[in-house]
Amino acid sequence: MRIDLHTHSDRSDGTDPPAELVRRAHEQGVDVLGLTDHDTAEGWQEAADAARRTGVTLVRGIEVSCRFGGYGVHLLAYLPDPTYPPLVAELQRVLDGRNARLPATLERLRRLGIDIDVDDVRAVAGETAAMGRPHVADALVALGVVRDRNAAFGRFLGPQGPAYVHRYAAELEAMICTVAEAGGVTVVAHPWASRHDHSALDERGLARLKAAGLSGIEVDHHDHPTGTRERLRELARRLELVVTGSSDHHGTGKPGHELGSLTTAPEQLERLLDLASAASASSGRRTPEVLQRSTAS
Ligand SMILES: [Zn+2]
Ligand SMILES: [Zn+2]
Repeated sequence: MRIDLHTHSDRSDGTDPPAELVRRAHEQGVDVLGLTDHDTAEGWQEAADAARRTGVTLVRGIEVSCRFGGYGVHLLAYLPDPTYPPLVAELQRVLDGRNARLPATLERLRRLGIDIDVDDVRAVAGETAAMGRPHVADALVALGVVRDRNAAFGRFLGPQGPAYVHRYAAELEAMICTVAEAGGVTVVAHPWASRHDHSALDERGLARLKAAGLSGIEVDHHDHPTGTRERLRELARRLELVVTGSSDHHGTGKPGHELGSLTTAPEQLERLLDLASAASASSGRRTPEVLQRSTAS
C-alpha cells in the first residue's frame, strides 16, 4: 500500500490540475493520496471526482502557512470542515497577505534591474488561487534570469534574498486549535527542512504543539537528510506523535519529488484517521470523508 499524504495541484503551486494529479497518482501506484494545496481547499471537489473514477483513496487537506517563534512553519491540516468560518477567515487573511506580497516582490526585482511584471508571473501560474514566490521563481526561469526554482530562491526570493518581502502567516498554535474546531487533524510539514530555520521546532517546541492538539510530524520528506529523519522519528515516538512521509509533489515545478517517492506507513495513517474521526465527532462539524472507491475491499 503506497500512501503519499502531501502533494500540490495547480490550485496552489503545483503544475497539474487536481484531476490530473489524481490520475497520475493512480498511474504511479499511489493508493492513498493527500491533496494539500497551500492555504486553499479549492482543488478538493475536482480531486474528489477524479478519485471516485480512479479508485485512488483521497485524503483532503490544506498546507497552511503559519508562524511560530518568529519563523515560518507549514502546517498540514487534514479533513477539516472547509466552511468553518474562523478557518475560512484565517485562510483568506493568509491568501490576502500573499497577494499583497507579489507587487512588492516584483518592485524589488525591478529595482535589481530585472525586467519583470505581473503578466510574466501570470503566464506561468496556471489556475492557482494565489500567485506566490514559486510562480515568481518560475517566471524568472522563463525569463532566463535563473536556471531553476532553487536558484531563484537562493539568489533572490529566500528569506536572505534581496527580493524577500515579509508577509502575514497564521499563528501556529491558534491554527492547530482552529483546525481541531473544524473537525480536522494537523501534522507539521517538513519541520527540520534545511531551507527553513527550525530552532523553534525543537523537542520543547514540538511538545508545546502537541499540547495544543498537534497529531503528527512529517518525518520522511526529501528536505530531511537521513540522519534528520531518524532523530525526528525518535522524537515523534517520545512525544507519541503520528509519523508521516510524503513526496511534497509539485508536478514539474519541483524536480525530485515524484508522486509516491516517500510514503506513510499504513498503521500511521490509521492512527491519523482515528484521530480525525474523533476530532470530527467532537467538533460537530460536517467534515469531508476519506474517499474510497469501495469501502468493502
Ligand atoms: Zn511546505
Ligand atoms: Zn508542500
